[in-house]
Amino acid sequence: MQRTVQNELEDIRSRGLLRSTRVISGRQEARVSCNGHDVMLLCSNNYLGLADHPALAAASIAAVQQYGTSSGASRLVSGTMALHEELERAVASFKKSEAALLFNSGYAANTGIIPALVGRGDVVFSDRLNHASIIDGILLSGARLVRYPHNDFSSLASLMEKHAKGRCLIITDAVFSMDGDIAPLAELVLLKRRYGALLMVDDAHGCGILGEHGGGSAELLGVGNDIDIQMGTFGKALGSFGAYAAVSAELRDLLINRARSFIFSTSLPPSVLAASLAAVELVQTREGDRLRKQLCANGRFFRDGLAASGFSIPPGSTQIVPIVIGSAVITMQFSDRLMEEGIFAQGIRPPTVPPGTSRLRFTLMATHTATDLAKAVERICKVGKILGVV
Ligand SMILES: *Cc1c(COP(=O)(O)O)cnc(C)c1O
Repeated sequence: MQRTVQNELEDIRSRGLLRSTRVISGRQEARVSCNGHDVMLLCSNNYLGLADHPALAAASIAAVQQYGTSSGASRLVSGTMALHEELERAVASFKKSEAALLFNSGYAANTGIIPALVGRGDVVFSDRLNHASIIDGILLSGARLVRYPHNDFSSLASLMEKHAKGRCLIITDAVFSMDGDIAPLAELVLLKRRYGALLMVDDAHGCGILGEHGGGSAELLGVGNDIDIQMGTFGKALGSFGAYAAVSAELRDLLINRARSFIFSTSLPPSVLAASLAAVELVQTREGDRLRKQLCANGRFFRDGLAASGFSIPPGSTQIVPIVIGSAVITMQFSDRLMEEGIFAQGIRPPTVPPGTSRLRFTLMATHTATDLAKAVERICKVGKILGVV
């Protein structure tokens, strides 16, 4: 049969993997209007509610008025504005690193940084459940990819013993985006030292949330100085857009010269930079503390509620709470039925997660109330029973 666009779509549909967008009107708040229905939002990464925070909006508006709407060029042409370097200094201070470099998104960071560090003849050791942007960065680099079982330090040790060659890079999500558990960073630091490897951590879901001051997973686990590249994003807990790499001054220079997604793309616009700056400041204040505590309490309340209703919830303590169902078709039925019950939770299917591990991925926000969450647990349980999942 000829491979037409129509056939291809039919094939995706028949495997229960067809994706489409759901439209939200209004802000990313605890309740949203989705495709015209008023629902509780349980799948946004606006964890601390900063995407709706007046301080970020005000900073953003002021920056547009002062600096305009675009940076006008890539960083190495004329697109480095004072705001870019101001934000980089703020990130370095926040992350306690020597330097920082901005990227246009987390995807652009991972696909730019990895090929800047390794290439043919080198080896990347990557957790099996790492984010797709990491996999794409490794493929682009031409380095050999050695995947290790999820968070399995001893398997990684034997794989490194066998395959370490050339420059080696260990790379992991810090908080796994579809599972919500945290990587054993202290153990990875030991292996990085033993084999003289570089260690890169993607803290997209930890930055702003973990650690006493929101500095992320490295702050929580006390290993910041031992991680060569701490990548994180502004689009999730920080309520803005874009990404950073917190690195040494030397590595920053190398990335400026080698990372193609940095070199060949128009830099972030003033409105975004100003919102990110306001967010980095805000998460380090007492208000940041309060939001983190609320998020953490919401996570615990929701996890405990689902577990008490009989769902098996993978171990973890973060704001990401999956119910692994297995079948992609049942997962999407679950998500659709929940939407009818007034709950927006996205079903996650391959290739985002490994085949046979389709799941509902719930994400908590500091702005959810206990009443909201209790109601959500009750409805999730009701639908779970109807579908025979619990
Ligand atoms: C969201 C995410 C990214 C991509 O970041 P964007 O800024 O959305 O492009 C990268 N890594 C992980 C682990 C993520 O969850």
